[in-house]
Amino acid sequence: MAELDKRGAEQIDVPSGWTYASAPESREIVRIAERYGHFVGGEWLESAEAYETIAPRDEEPLAAVGQATDADVDRAVAAARTAYADGWSSLPGSERAKYLFRIARILQERSREFAVLESLNGGKPIKESRDVDLPLAAAHFFYYAGWADKLEYAFPNRRPRPVGVAGQIIPWNFPLLMLAWKVAPALACGNTVVLKPAETTPLTALVFCDVLRQAELPPGVVNIVTGDGRTGAALVEHEDVDKIAFTGSTEVGKAIQRRLAGTGKRLTLELGGKAANIVFDDAALDQAVEGIVNGIYFNQGHVCCAGSRLFVQESIYEPLVGKLKRRLETLRVGDPLDKNTDVGAINSAAQLAKIRELVASGEEEGAEIYQPPCVLPEKGYWFAPTVFTNVAQSYRIAQEEIFGPVLSVLTFRTPEEAVEKANNTPYGLSAGVWTEKGSRILWMAQRLRAGVVWANTYNRFDPGSPFGGYKESGFGREGGRHGLEPYLEFDE
Ligand code: NDP
Repeated sequence: MAELDKRGAEQIDVPSGWTYASAPESREIVRIAERYGHFVGGEWLESAEAYETIAPRDEEPLAAVGQATDADVDRAVAAARTAYADGWSSLPGSERAKYLFRIARILQERSREFAVLESLNGGKPIKESRDVDLPLAAAHFFYYAGWADKLEYAFPNRRPRPVGVAGQIIPWNFPLLMLAWKVAPALACGNTVVLKPAETTPLTALVFCDVLRQAELPPGVVNIVTGDGRTGAALVEHEDVDKIAFTGSTEVGKAIQRRLAGTGKRLTLELGGKAANIVFDDAALDQAVEGIVNGIYFNQGHVCCAGSRLFVQESIYEPLVGKLKRRLETLRVGDPLDKNTDVGAINSAAQLAKIRELVASGEEEGAEIYQPPCVLPEKGYWFAPTVFTNVAQSYRIAQEEIFGPVLSVLTFRTPEEAVEKANNTPYGLSAGVWTEKGSRILWMAQRLRAGVVWANTYNRFDPGSPFGGYKESGFGREGGRHGLEPYLEFDE
């Protein structure tokens, strides 16, 4: 200070607080074509109809994308069938593995490009697409490459063989990662694929076709058709598709299940969730706050397993909610391409409208809303991180999937009460438990009706670990050895 005094401290521009300078990721690395058709039989098929895909951060048009008709879907399924019969299904597993390894390596090499594209088209922060989506997508291809020649060992004495042509329909929250979750096990097991990305986020799947060409995957093994729900429905209804793998809303999942009943087509559904994140009074509170924030604000809450219902043991309610609110004030909401951004843009106008409607219902029903001060950009789709306290279990915000950055806080007194309240939902995808007692973690995990239970952490994914739901969250597992089974028939 003496030194500063000498120089006249009042005249020196001393920083009064810590703020982040903007650190935008360059989008130069990404080349987006003006118009995309459908990727069928290793070639680009012109689409008669098209729609515009945009960047949710500012509504900038990015490309014209094909709206596949029934005839386009038919061609894609025919190409997949031909590739299946012409050799892919009978290729030795060790050969199929080589293609999967190549795809994984190319994704790693091009990961920056894909991360920028994912954030641009989907709205998620670049640090998430760079550090989560891309590494995990590559890891799935590596992981299932490892299984391709070991299926006999994975299922001893059951003589596994491929199912045939798989129709795969994916949502917009993790576009490339969901593609990897679906394509990697299907190919490892010797199936061929027709995949439909979500209407709002088709670009990484379309650029992925270039990766397939680079990897010299035989034509027709993976086909990509774009479009809205009609394209998905055409794929579901196509007679020559042997298996449907769907990730998306419970409503559409139920419609698909009704449609397929009695057809003999195989089906796996990964649907919505309303996960309980449960904090006991002996938990490390600061660590729990980080887990709560990661649980609900990661990817703007567009996460099927988001910890959207926070259950806090009554004795620590005040300190925990206080810490949570203070932590929210430090979240940086803004440009998805800025490397410092924590919470990006909402994926679409429709999703923003849904979030707003449910948040309004929470206020009307009597919950108390808290949003940290933050300036939201004027253009594009934005919603501030939100916490509701004073929430009753019957409120819509405690029952329905909001799929946005909105947390509902409830309380409990005993472990039994926590379990009962956590299970009071039509869903059953995931849950979190925060406590220092290992025995309590096991006690809770045995009773929580959820496919995944995280302990003292949240939103951790690994290709070796199966993921999937109970009840209205769907059935079937993706990831791990379990993730192979839906893509195999067995001669037992
Ligand atoms: P959808 O279930 O409508 O979309 C998922 C995928 O299914 C998309 O590719 C979609 O195409 C396609 N699809 C739509 N209708 C049909 C149909 N009849 N037959 C076959 N495929 C179809 O989810 P939304 O995108 O509309 O999101 C609505 C809500 O669903 C969200 O607010 C959220 O609550 C939940 N959701 C849950 C997800 C999860 O991972 N569990 C993921 C996404 C959403 P298109 O993109 O053109 O609609």
